[in-house]
Amino acid sequence: MGYKTFPILTVARRSGLPVEDRGQRQVHINCPFCGDRRRRLYLYTDTDQYHCFHCRAHGNAVSLYARRTGLTYKDAYHELLEDSVLHFPQPAVQRPPEREPAPLDRRDAVYRAMLGLLPLSAAHQDNLLTRGLTDEAIRQNGYRTLGYGKELRDHLAAQLSARFDLNGIPGFFYAQGAWRMCAYSGLLVPVRAADGRVQGIQIRRDNAERMKYAWMSGAGKPYGTGARSWIHVAGDRSRKEAVITEGPIKGDVASLLTGGMLFICLPGVNAVSFLHDTLRELRVTQVWEAFDMDKRCSPQVQAAVIRLRQELKKTGIPCRMMAWNPAYKGIDDFLVMRQSA
Ligand SMILES: [Zn+2]
Repeated sequence: MGYKTFPILTVARRSGLPVEDRGQRQVHINCPFCGDRRRRLYLYTDTDQYHCFHCRAHGNAVSLYARRTGLTYKDAYHELLEDSVLHFPQPAVQRPPEREPAPLDRRDAVYRAMLGLLPLSAAHQDNLLTRGLTDEAIRQNGYRTLGYGKELRDHLAAQLSARFDLNGIPGFFYAQGAWRMCAYSGLLVPVRAADGRVQGIQIRRDNAERMKYAWMSGAGKPYGTGARSWIHVAGDRSRKEAVITEGPIKGDVASLLTGGMLFICLPGVNAVSFLHDTLRELRVTQVWEAFDMDKRCSPQVQAAVIRLRQELKKTGIPCRMMAWNPAYKGIDDFLVMRQSA
């Protein structure tokens, strides 16, 4: 028989807590464990978890019931199981719908905490130096290394879920009674919004043949949330001219080598859904398109350039193409060459 989960609100009520169910995703109540009177115990209806942001008591519906009744976890589980036949509605086996990502401030807080728990490997550091970054820039940009292994990821997810609500944070999902982390490992690259906050994380996968870059995403996972096509902003955000390119590290490198020019880095040549908002937020008045030179002849990239120009036309911001010696693929490669020449 499979492990059964129980609806948190029903269980909280069954354990004597005053809980109203008006269909919200979160219910906030006074915590019975620490005597908090500011409703800092959160009940999450989508994961059936609870978390007190005062005493940090947390867990699932069974552990809430066990803690309230003094039963062991096992006995609490069986009592709820017997009870559930009589009193709990039997929801159809549900696959939750695609969830919206949490707001930027919540994503930024979780991602920054996560980066703070991780090292940067010597190999990744060397590789970033080779690409043209300095030690100082590497430190400021916040790249980190996520190693291999489920144990490491589970440990990270446990540390973060003790401090944050991970619902809606792309890269995390909930399975077998705990928060988990998506499985890709490699170099973690913060994707920053126009104001510098971390809106998403791209992973440059080590030794990947295909899909070298992936988002930290929980799409398709239980209680997981997919990433969106967030745009990375690098350089001096007060500048009125911006260069549009593809890929966050490329923009970080190019911006550093041009003394802080503003770079707007699409996650893919076609990924323009957030371009309008990003340009508006930055109040840019002139843009340059600087996709990789070697791709310019491919029909897909030509189509993408047309799409980009249409998108820019809507904003009314003039756009010009930036070209350089095609022996150098990306604008960053060209700038690195020019610097060392
Ligand atoms: Zn508490």
